[in-house]
Amino acid sequence: MYWQAKRPAFLFGMKLLEEKIKTHGKVIGTEVLKVDSFLNHQVDVGLLCEMGKDVYNHFADCAVNKILTVEASGIGYACLAAQFFGCNVVFAKKAKAVNQSADVYKTTVHSFTHGNDYTATVDKKYLSQGDRVLIMDDFLARGEAANGLLELCRQAGATVVGIAIAIEKGFQPGGENLRAQGYDVYSQAIVAAMSEDGVEFKQ
Ligand code: 5GP
Repeated sequence: MYWQAKRPAFLFGMKLLEEKIKTHGKVIGTEVLKVDSFLNHQVDVGLLCEMGKDVYNHFADCAVNKILTVEASGIGYACLAAQFFGCNVVFAKKAKAVNQSADVYKTTVHSFTHGNDYTATVDKKYLSQGDRVLIMDDFLARGEAANGLLELCRQAGATVVGIAIAIEKGFQPGGENLRAQGYDVYSQAIVAAMSEDGVEFKQ
């Protein structure tokens, strides 16, 4: 495939993601990392495919039958992982559409990037007791989005096998709080520190 041919052979595993963040990421202020060129606006499908395979390798023995994420940036990331699990992806919706079912699980989530609250909903048809769910999201900061998705699984009676994150900002408390609750949080790149001079990763 085209993306395999383009990858340098000496980069393997999630070093690819760290390199991409180093070369294409932009640090905004002290708290926000912008990765629009490969994850949040334009999508590097080859990279996300490698990331999906890596997520699968971590959770392969967990009998995952569903991946749950939140719109919008989590969707591509989740779908490229789902092809390795052979399962479907459900994404929580943020806005109430006129054609939305009334029969939904719902919870309020505070948005890190927009600074406001939104209602995350999942139609009851698509999440059930008996589902073994892997939660996935592009970023982990304070853990509000992940906690919202956990709450939707709790309402459905579904089992959460773990949480996969593309980029965790390790200097913000979300990862530590989720791990303290006992969840297997697998973050593919953990930013230890960042400034306009660059990004350092936890090794
Ligand atoms: P949390 O809910 O863990 O505080 O923040 C995670 C959510 O906020 C993710 O769904 C992501 O969309 C967004 N987010 C948090 N931090 C960043 C960041 O540094 N850059 C980008 N692009 N999104 C972020």
